Amino acid sequence: MSKHAADKLMSLGVTNLATLLTHLPHRHEWIRARATLDDLVPGVIGSAIGQISAIKVAGYGRKARLQVVLIDDSAPNALQHGRLDLVFFNQAFLAKKLEPGMYLNVQGTPKTYGPGLQMANPKFTIIKQEELEQHLATDQDDEYRPVYPATDGLTSLEIHEIIKPLIEEASQLLEDHLNEDYRNERALPTLAEAYRMLHAPIDEDEVSSAKRRLAYDELLLLQLGVHMKRAHLRSTLQSPALPTSQEIDDRIAARIPFTLTADQKQVSDEIARDLSFTTPTNRLIQGDVGSGKTVVAVTAMLRAIAHGHQAALMAPTELLAEQHYLSISDMLRDSSTRIALLTGSMPADQRSETLALIESGEIDLVVGTHSLVSDAVAFHSLAVAIIDEQHRFGVEQRAKLRVKGGVKGGAESSNETPHVIVMTATPIPRTIGLTIFGDLDISTITHLPKGRKPITTKLVTPDKRSTVYHWLNEKIKQGQQAYIVVPAIEPGGKTTATLHSDGTTYGGKSPTRNLRELQKELESGELHDVKLAAMHGKLKRDTRERIMHRFRNHDIDCLIATTVIEVGVDVPNACVIVIEDADRFGLAQLHQLRGRVGRGDQPSVCVLVADPKTEDGKRRLEAMVESTSGFILAQRDLEIRGPGDVFGTRQSGMPPFKVANPLEDHDLLNMARRDAANWIEHSPMLENQGETLIRRRLLKAHGQWLGVGDVG
Ligand code: ADP
Ligand code: MG
Repeated sequence: MSKHAADKLMSLGVTNLATLLTHLPHRHEWIRARATLDDLVPGVIGSAIGQISAIKVAGYGRKARLQVVLIDDSAPNALQHGRLDLVFFNQAFLAKKLEPGMYLNVQGTPKTYGPGLQMANPKFTIIKQEELEQHLATDQDDEYRPVYPATDGLTSLEIHEIIKPLIEEASQLLEDHLNEDYRNERALPTLAEAYRMLHAPIDEDEVSSAKRRLAYDELLLLQLGVHMKRAHLRSTLQSPALPTSQEIDDRIAARIPFTLTADQKQVSDEIARDLSFTTPTNRLIQGDVGSGKTVVAVTAMLRAIAHGHQAALMAPTELLAEQHYLSISDMLRDSSTRIALLTGSMPADQRSETLALIESGEIDLVVGTHSLVSDAVAFHSLAVAIIDEQHRFGVEQRAKLRVKGGVKGGAESSNETPHVIVMTATPIPRTIGLTIFGDLDISTITHLPKGRKPITTKLVTPDKRSTVYHWLNEKIKQGQQAYIVVPAIEPGGKTTATLHSDGTTYGGKSPTRNLRELQKELESGELHDVKLAAMHGKLKRDTRERIMHRFRNHDIDCLIATTVIEVGVDVPNACVIVIEDADRFGLAQLHQLRGRVGRGDQPSVCVLVADPKTEDGKRRLEAMVESTSGFILAQRDLEIRGPGDVFGTRQSGMPPFKVANPLEDHDLLNMARRDAANWIEHSPMLENQGETLIRRRLLKAHGQWLGVGDVG
């Protein structure tokens, strides 16, 4: 290997033979022995090499497309070239990458186009002039070749030329963590074979067999980690047992201002059962926006308090924490329960006073933001910890809350941990939930409380904005209340619209509507005689609370807000929401925002104001108009965005899958789950003979984020 190539490989993180193998191709392509353009057949997937003779951009805006003409000399006569037309949609950036004279190996399904053929959005690799010979080796057989992700400095072919001669040697070094019987039972190749088949396959079958092995490994290691952690928690940690009694049940029921729905009752009972044991509860409550999860959480917290312990509720935003604090305080009015709010923005003296009361046990129930898990917070005796809107938090927060348990000064404090319950409105397909949150039990609240009126959703273009606000004015005159949501506070300000649950924002550069200007416009225009107030994250806490209080009391008709109202705000009389620049928001966020209305007994309306510039933006808004079900919207989101990061695996800290796709590899996933459960049942810490290697690989991949690195 040349020094140059070795350096390049080092820069890719390939420092030894074994990691060389894990530098995986992202796809494979046939290099046909006689791969001429003339050989291509319409309707049949094929690949061929040609030279770019012309490039042009046609159409404008959304319809813009890149047209490329490839030629070679495979013509029926000397006057003609072999020719293939390529067209790329939505890939304007390619215009900079491609230029006339370049050689491309393209793969795709050509169709008839005028007198010739055309491929739309084909896969392709650029071939260097000096590599052309090798690619066009017409005297050789067809070759099924890996395509490696482009890197600066090394072409896919160069990487292939480096790896190929080393495969035998490298895979010799690769020990398998699964034994022969185990592999044979599941028809899995050895690891060495799998890597050989990926880097130098004979055909498609070899590639799929290799991928099956590697995907299974990824899923198995994850599942083993999840099960190992669960076994570890169960065997070493204890939570206070909080048994139920008729008296406790009655006292709790007396505090709830309505009758629980059948679903709420069932979940509340499931939790009561969990809490009655010393095994730490680890349960996920899944329920659509507005399904009434908070009250179920309250019943769980009251069980801790009934037994003389403390409870904590952690919310993702200050506004939501404040709202929870107020509504729970209201429920527990004139009871002996002492409640506190703890957020990051509290004045220092107030904060340290609250911290002292939490530590001495004079506070029974704490509502807070992530500041609850800061080191400064010590509980006297935390028995139940609730995390609201789990998708906004990472796994670490759950782990940090866990170590907040234990009765202070108690002899057994080191292995005491609270029961943990997490809540989410983001529906997660069951198989995925089990994959990623495999250490959680899952409860679902399916039905909304009775009497909810449907929400109608309308999509309106910005030029009709004035009509919308005239109509809104009418509604307000009739006694209704409303929200108006904008993506930014100031002109040119940072947008709080997020496309993804991890906070990724919309990439578009065009200016967004902003709160300040819109408020001015409306105050001197359509809503001039309406009591309007602004709500955003830059306001002080007491200002925020005062405004929410006045809005709840209907002293304010309309809140013009940023996405701070996205979660948790609960004012039943508000039944109109207008969302400006709606195409800037992701589906999950739009659904949450819309969930602010439809909480009372009046029919509600959600108006999306947008002129979507992208195909995805259009599809998101159409999905919103078509459905109000969080479950269906999550499915649509998946289709639009692809499985990538819909489930917040990124925040969880879990390393991404390289080969496995848990959405598609159902059978493999189920197999891995069953195998892992079985395995851990017989060998909870993987400390038997022959398990050293798999244990080491598991801890390397998942030890840290799962917090099992120090297990054993
Ligand atoms: P989410 O699941 O979105 O967190 P909330 O807990 O905020 O939902 O509840 C939404 C609204 O429904 C609140 O106003 C709550 O008081 C009300 N609610 C919850 N459960 C019931 C019920 N069983 N009957 C009537 N109203 C309920
Ligand atoms: Mg909620």
